[in-house]
Amino acid sequence: MAYAPCSLCLRRYTGKASSFYPAVAAGRDFLRCKLRLCPPCAAHFLADRMRNFRRVDPDDSLRFLLADSCASCAAEVQGDANAAFVTVYLPGEERVDYFALAHGACAAELARQLCVT
Ligand SMILES: [Zn+2]
Ligand SMILES: [Zn+2]
Repeated sequence: MAYAPCSLCLRRYTGKASSFYPAVAAGRDFLRCKLRLCPPCAAHFLADRMRNFRRVDPDDSLRFLLADSCASCAAEVQGDANAAFVTVYLPGEERVDYFALAHGACAAELARQLCVT
């Protein structure tokens, strides 16, 4: 039973919260926030707001350097890109890290999308 309202829908809910820790690079800093989401919002957040994020596997760190799709506008990102990370704790599961890239011009929009502004 959760006592705090969901960070996204702001409703109180039954069931276990999931924790999301988004961080979006902005210049030399990271914009960060902490979300506690109810089960439907956690599913929505993963499937929709994080649709261009990829799960980070410990063995494929070099792939971060390859071209990828912008997590905000979905166009290809090459060269100057901002990194974004989301650490996710679903109820009863191990920590999972997700990674994405965003155009410099899209970083602010991505931060709004992940509600870290
Ligand atoms: Zn919710
Ligand atoms: Zn973009």
